[in-house]
Amino acid sequence: MKYRHSAAQSTEYLRLAVKQMTQHAAGMHPASYTVWYEYVSGANPALRAELDSLLQRGVRLGDDAIDDLYSRHISELDARTALRIGDSVSQLVSHVSESTSVAGDEAERFGSSLARWNEELVDPESSGDALASGVEDILRGTRQMQKAVSTLKLRLAESARETERLREEVARAREEALIDGLTGLSNRKGFDLALATCLDELPPGAAGPCLLMIDLDHFKRINDSLGHVFGDRVLGNVGQILRANVKGKDTAARYGGEEFAVVLPNTPRGGAVGLAEALRALVAASRVRRGGDRDALIGNITVSIGVADHLAGESPTDLVSRADRALYTAKMQGRNRVVLAPRPAAKAGQ
Ligand code: GH3
Ligand code: MG
Ligand code: MG
Repeated sequence: MKYRHSAAQSTEYLRLAVKQMTQHAAGMHPASYTVWYEYVSGANPALRAELDSLLQRGVRLGDDAIDDLYSRHISELDARTALRIGDSVSQLVSHVSESTSVAGDEAERFGSSLARWNEELVDPESSGDALASGVEDILRGTRQMQKAVSTLKLRLAESARETERLREEVARAREEALIDGLTGLSNRKGFDLALATCLDELPPGAAGPCLLMIDLDHFKRINDSLGHVFGDRVLGNVGQILRANVKGKDTAARYGGEEFAVVLPNTPRGGAVGLAEALRALVAASRVRRGGDRDALIGNITVSIGVADHLAGESPTDLVSRADRALYTAKMQGRNRVVLAPRPAAKAGQ
């Protein structure tokens, strides 16, 4: 885990972070909390230095400023983690090769002692003294060998443990780098990867994936009238509906802000429209609890969805643009609806 603060310590940081968050314009969302948590705990010196200078100038931080700090000082750390892990691995390798070469030298020395002793044994002229010193030589050599081999064994065991720890860290960092913190869905990077992989794996001439672009309707209004905290809860609710209904080879992602995307590698367009319609209806029927007031359930939250099915040879960007245009049409036609992107005339009927 990245943060190793005790419950009491982290509670104090929570108090300090919330105090900072309330003094700024950005929403009380996880990115904002992470920025302030890292600031007050001193866990991130570079972030702290930059924020200190902003605070000294009396800057009031909005969502964009927090986003920028978050991406430069926190999410980019993934890349730095990767570098650090690379360094640890090369250090590890050099430790092991050092121990191996020490053990090798000892083995060579031991071998020469044995050869010398052998010569003494077969030489009829050699005295008892020479034989005794030969035995001593061998014993010394054996002890040195044993020491070198046991050091090597220890190093190897240590390295195996360290390698396992690094392997886990890399796997975790990789996973975290592709997940959106608020909804638990894939993030934009995860989406790009899923779509690119799906298109790369497409056998020549095979039908491509379908893509859903989903956008919350009048979300700005929801934020403005009910607050960003509630807005984030609405995003979490849509995330939950997507997680529950998009499974297996399909990928649901938070594309950015209040926009989501779903990649369906093996679903024909009729099926994709059916799923989009089901998701639209589920969101429209859902109710989200408003924080503080336990009984206030807010409904009337809707999404518009654009669906596009991949055309042979189409790039990921072009597919996303067509789904986006269909989404725009859905908005223009009154929102809370699904629109299927038309196929270009030349390719229709493919
Ligand atoms: P439309 O129906 O045309 O999509 O209208 P809209 O209000 O949803 O669209 P617009 O693009 O004008 O506004 C999107 C809003 O989404 C503005 C922004 O503050 C809000 N938003 C984006 N990301 C987040 C987030 O992570 N949390 C919250 N609470 N709001 C967000
Ligand atoms: Mg919107
Ligand atoms: Mg939008």
